[in-house]
Amino acid sequence: MKVPFLNLRAINARDEHAIISACERVIKSGWYVNSEEVSNFESKFSNYCGTKYCIGVANGLDALKLTLAAWKILGKLKDGDEVLVPGNTFIATVLAVIDTGLNPVFVEPDPETFLISNSSLESAITSRCKAIIPVHLYGQLVDLSALRGVIEKHELLVLEDSAQAHGASLMGKRAGNLGHAAAFSFYPGKNLGALGDGGAVTTNDAELASLIKALANYGSEDKYVHSFVGYNSRLDAIQAAILNVKLTRLDNDIELRRKIVHRYLNEISNPHISLPSINDTQSHVWHLFVVKTEFRKALQAWLTAHDVQTLVHYPIAPHKQEALSQFSHTILPVTENLQSVVLSLPVDPTLDNEQVSYVIDVCNKFKLNAENHPL
Ligand SMILES: *Cc1c(COP(=O)(O)O)cnc(C)c1O
Repeated sequence: MKVPFLNLRAINARDEHAIISACERVIKSGWYVNSEEVSNFESKFSNYCGTKYCIGVANGLDALKLTLAAWKILGKLKDGDEVLVPGNTFIATVLAVIDTGLNPVFVEPDPETFLISNSSLESAITSRCKAIIPVHLYGQLVDLSALRGVIEKHELLVLEDSAQAHGASLMGKRAGNLGHAAAFSFYPGKNLGALGDGGAVTTNDAELASLIKALANYGSEDKYVHSFVGYNSRLDAIQAAILNVKLTRLDNDIELRRKIVHRYLNEISNPHISLPSINDTQSHVWHLFVVKTEFRKALQAWLTAHDVQTLVHYPIAPHKQEALSQFSHTILPVTENLQSVVLSLPVDPTLDNEQVSYVIDVCNKFKLNAENHPL
């Protein structure tokens, strides 16, 4: 049996007819940019997240960057201000900060939840910190209410990086509606994925929303009238039309992921594999199912040999990347340890029961012997 990590072809095949007719509608409309398809998606997605506004943009990185750039124009941030980011995240979170002339300050995660926590936040914060980007990593919400004390004390702007957490909710509030603004990605492999790049910002702040809308469209609100030095970062009509189809399936896909995870958590029982811990079932949408093991190389080789595809999220932390060598002296022991012990198992919503049983079985049969060298 073969278990792919994420079978995008199978995922999208379930909506093939609806996707094709959505594309056909766009092709025949003659409107390919800034069209009604985009505003339709924006209102559906803001409604889904529970926010007043949603602005479609070109990708998740731009969603982060445009929000930070807008805060600079609004006078809420200025060059050189510090922004708290988790040490363990996808590099986009950090690039967005650097690209807008701000300085990242890395915060260690809690090794159990993989998310930033109060104690590490308190030790990282400085008086120059003006904003925080909590990343809902692997699909689990950062509990912002637990961080409220620090956020309020330092009057931090909160930009959720929700690229992995579409639909996750905590006490009835969804990702995207927990801070001052949130950035989403619709990269094909995300839980809500387009058939190309896409992204969005959600917020309840009217001024911020209209500024981001303008910034993403050459700094223009009226055609050929440019009020700001803007960018070209728009969500394509064709991707918006596809996202309108796929949004209707999101909640069901989250349930499918939760069912797979429920089995993994109950049935994987190998002492060499440590399973993730969850705070609250609704607050995790399982973009990734990440286990920890001291024997990653051996476990990954074992799973590969049995046709179970796994990936590592992420093998090199941002501050250890060559591209960010200015941070190479930063010391983040928790982050650095995680990058060598994490392994992501398949949690594709199209996996069938037999495939899930098979992954469990292969995991449970993993043993260490003379060839299974530890790390
Ligand atoms: C995917 C991702 C992004 C960037 O999204 P793109 O659409 O690829 O630009 C940002 N942050 C996190 C945590 C992500 O996983």
